[in-house]
Amino acid sequence: MGEGVLYNTNGVDLQQGGAINSHRSTMTTPLSSDLAALLTSLAEDTASQRFPAGALYVLGTPIGNLSDISIRALGVLEQVDAIACEDTRHTGQLIKRYGFSKPLIATHQHNEAAAAQKIMERLRCGERIALVSDAGTPAISDPGTRVVDAALNEGITVIPIAGPSASVAALSASGLSGEGFQFVGFLPTKHAQRDSALRALTDSAAVLVFYEAPHRVLDTVSALRDVFGHQRRIVIARELSKLFEQIHRCSLSDAPEWLAADSDRQRGEFVLLIEGASGGGKEDDELKEARRLLMLLLEECPVSQAAALAAKITGLKKNKLYAMALEIADQRS
Ligand code: SAM
Repeated sequence: MGEGVLYNTNGVDLQQGGAINSHRSTMTTPLSSDLAALLTSLAEDTASQRFPAGALYVLGTPIGNLSDISIRALGVLEQVDAIACEDTRHTGQLIKRYGFSKPLIATHQHNEAAAAQKIMERLRCGERIALVSDAGTPAISDPGTRVVDAALNEGITVIPIAGPSASVAALSASGLSGEGFQFVGFLPTKHAQRDSALRALTDSAAVLVFYEAPHRVLDTVSALRDVFGHQRRIVIARELSKLFEQIHRCSLSDAPEWLAADSDRQRGEFVLLIEGASGGGKEDDELKEARRLLMLLLEECPVSQAAALAAKITGLKKNKLYAMALEIADQRS
């Protein structure tokens, strides 16, 4: 997340009829004196808490809205001796906005192992170090795991300072049911690997959570529809907590069209959620298997031949498989 995309935002309208969209306006109402007094008293509580020395603080930062920082996180940022961060320029600006200036230790995906060693040396000397990523919770599709692992291996105290994560924000506003959720994060960028990763997930009863980049979102949503079928619901959660936040829920059959209808809908940052498989019994399983088989066969042969081969392999009716093969071929064209 670069500079200039951190907004103060507010109100969300929940529309009727299953689709959730939000329309945002700039916050203009000043804080009431009661709220200002509450914040002061919470800040005093935080100041009286103990922040142990020689500990690593894994600290969540906003995913867009600067007000989404916790008072405890601000207390930690004030106390720490240094902040390990992905992009020193970005984090420098973020903490400046909160009134802090701290030494920053660049800790990104290309130097994490070496940075971890530097951080361990400082922690062993009794320093307090905060670990942050550009946005959201470190180590969730972000660097951080190696630093935390190194600290735990050395017996150093690791303290999570819970904060925002795009995945949890999207899940909480999705209303999707499933047996828990499964965090997938970013899919492989190569189509064959992506599709095979998706096929491995079709039976999961959990809500599936994906992160996706704007230039791939339409293509990925089409692939989700091809693999999971038309009926399952998707939630497209875009620009969460920012000025143009949008949360749209629909069936997978409608999702590519919805995205394509307005180019603005393909801008920004995305979380995609797919509702869990309902476990519709043997017939459903057979049809899912047939769909998977047809998707593979259609990569090699025309519709009628794919349907005939699939009928031989599965024992299902050829006309049913022909209709399914046509549908898949249509979606691909
Ligand atoms: N560690 C972060 C977290 O806790 O959510 C995720 C970091 S990952 C590198 C960045 C991806 O998270 C984006 O490409 C997007 O898929 C998702 N994301 C981050 N901020 C978002 C937001 N405000 N709205 C929607 N998705 C967001």
